[in-house]
Amino acid sequence: MSQSPIYLDHHSTTPCHPDVVAAMLPFFSENYGNPAAITHVHGRRASTAVEEARISVADFLQVRPSEVFFTAGATESNNIVLQAMLVRGGGHVISSQIEHKSVLLPLKRLQASGIDVTLLPPDSNGFISPDALRAALRPDTRLVSIMAANGEVGTLQPVVELGRICRENKVLFHTDATQAVGKIDLSVNESGIDLLSLSAHKVYGPKGIGALVVRSGVKVEPLIVGGGQEKRMRSGTVNVPAVIGLARALEIRRSEMREESERLTRMRNHLWDEIVDKVPDVSVYGPRELRLPGNLNVCFRGVEAEALILAMRRFSLSSGSACSSGDREPSSVLLAMGVESRVAMTSIRFGLGRSNTMEEMELLVGDLIDTVPRLRQMSPA
Ligand code: PMP
Repeated sequence: MSQSPIYLDHHSTTPCHPDVVAAMLPFFSENYGNPAAITHVHGRRASTAVEEARISVADFLQVRPSEVFFTAGATESNNIVLQAMLVRGGGHVISSQIEHKSVLLPLKRLQASGIDVTLLPPDSNGFISPDALRAALRPDTRLVSIMAANGEVGTLQPVVELGRICRENKVLFHTDATQAVGKIDLSVNESGIDLLSLSAHKVYGPKGIGALVVRSGVKVEPLIVGGGQEKRMRSGTVNVPAVIGLARALEIRRSEMREESERLTRMRNHLWDEIVDKVPDVSVYGPRELRLPGNLNVCFRGVEAEALILAMRRFSLSSGSACSSGDREPSSVLLAMGVESRVAMTSIRFGLGRSNTMEEMELLVGDLIDTVPRLRQMSPA
């Protein structure tokens, strides 16, 4: 029987924690009520469970339960925030060139409908400068949307400063915190975040569930209308097992995050040093500090990422954001950081997670030492 490859793509998704699965199971066929059907005990039980989960998620984020709305994931949360701008058209929105496509593509729609959009460029390490944000603000700026952490190069944005600038200028601040929540300390209050998107499957929870945090007083129009669930913010029968899974996943993060972040940072830095030391002609992108603990992005010059991924059979690797890998385009994040297109095509993103070990890093380095020069010989530049 062939062994499963070693999983190193934790920014794309993570396996469900066994305790998350255990918490979800009763909500499939025992407590299967519809939380909106509160005329009977089945519905009321489901409703109570969802409200307890909401309190738990709110507690994790240090916001009010009434500010947490469950959605089908971060893509939906981002779309709600951005497309709400269309309801009252006009004005100006600021974001960055390195956002996820679920921010960039809704922004294109805004542009097509006549809303001005400024996309701030990152520096060579992927940071968005607070000064650049300040300079881009206009009297008609309605929203700033900047991600908390980048899933390709791991850069953590200065959200506290960015948020302060927005607050000083009375502009709404949204952050796509999909890659940050549960992995790094992020204070919604301290950062003056008005709107925040998150997703469960990046932190050992189930897929297809996330949340949008809307601070009280902030008005957002729903994207999906219908039965009026989630206080009309997001119609559709609530996915109760997934909501329970999201809350449980975050509870586990609360107890595991700190220690795991330190372990992953040590492992990632070791991998970084080993690769740079033992594989010739590589470049690492993104900063050493202020970086997602399990993230490493390396360009192996002269070796197409796709060829390397295929050759490294013992590992599940990816060449960037899962949504754009496969289309053989260089990563737009790396291009925005000033990396040459030819080099960006050789980028591998290593995403380390809770199951990975130092021994696996040694195996990985060993395989890279063998494979990279072999591929370079096969197709010399
Ligand atoms: N934003 C970021 C920064 C992401 O990394 C992802 C997932 N790749 C998303 C949004 C989309 O999240 P979801 O899969 O929950 O729709």
